[in-house]
Formats: sequence, C-alpha cells, structure tokens
Amino acid sequence: MSARPQAVLFDRDGTLVVDVPYNGDPAAVAPMPAAAAALDRVRAAGVPVGVVSNQSGVARGLLDPAQVIAVNARVEELLGPFAVWQWCPHGDGDGCPRRKPAPGMVLDAAAALGVAPGEVAVIGDIAADVGAADAAGARAVLVPTAATRGEEVEDARARGRLADDLLGAVTLLGFA
Ligand SMILES: [Mg+2]
Ligand SMILES: [Zn+2]
Repeated sequence: MSARPQAVLFDRDGTLVVDVPYNGDPAAVAPMPAAAAALDRVRAAGVPVGVVSNQSGVARGLLDPAQVIAVNARVEELLGPFAVWQWCPHGDGDGCPRRKPAPGMVLDAAAALGVAPGEVAVIGDIAADVGAADAAGARAVLVPTAATRGEEVEDARARGRLADDLLGAVTLLGFA
C-alpha cells in the first residue's frame, strides 16, 4: 500500500449521505453511518476532504441546479466543511468529461487543492466512482450499499480496495 493520500474525495449519494434518487430536498439529507467519524479522521490528519457528485437529475429535468446547491449546503451543514465541491449536471448522453466514470471532476478537484491526481483517493459506492479514480490515476475505495452490483463488489475485493463502511475505507487509506 502506498503512502496515505494528500486529499480524499467522496461521492455524495450512497456514500456520504443516504441515496435518495434525484433528491432536491435538503430535509431529506441523512448521513451514512460513520460518515462524520471518517471525515473527522481525515481532517484530523490535516488532509483536505472534498465531494465529487454526478447529478444527472438536472439533465433529466428532475432537479434544478438551485436544488442541488441547497442539498449540497445541507450536506455541508451536517458533515462539512469540505475543501472542494465538484458536481456535474449532465447525463450519459451529454459526453461531459466531468461525469463519472470520466475523470474530469477528480482532476478538477485535485487541481483546486493543488494536489497531484496520483496523490488523491476517491471513495464511492459504485463502479463509476472507482472508474473515475482509475481514469484520473487516483486511488479508489469502494464502500458498497445494497444497490451496488455484485460484480463491482467482487472486483473491488480482488483489487484490495473494498471496505464495509467509511471508517474502514479511510483506515484502508492509512488514516487509522
Ligand atoms: Mg453514489
Ligand atoms: Zn458535466
């Protein structure tokens, strides 16, 4: 295992907070178990934390950007502060280089933090998250939920980048 990363980026829905599909309601935001403890552990090491979030509900007309911003603000209120936020409003058909599993948001977050992509880790609940990390040259940890596909879990297990919860994920990254 390489040295501890210099920044840790978290997926939002299904990772930091309970996944409520296309949620536009700040009142529906609920942290995932161990999210606060995991974030505290990384911050206590002096390492910045950030968020990288696909929000294709905007492209689908199910959310407006102001709702995404309001939900993000609630996440920050419950779990913040975050050193960087990156979110993408596009859908699969838009070809956006920022939409995970493309690397754009990870690269942009790394640049915003002044950290090389190879010194960043991404924690998420689905293959798009680890795919974005791989494409950016970053490290990845998968913390599956009941909705994560079995083959994605097995792939992460085989690569030694699977954790049961967010505290396990940051422990795997060296924040023990
Ligand atoms: Mg997710
Ligand atoms: Zn985009």
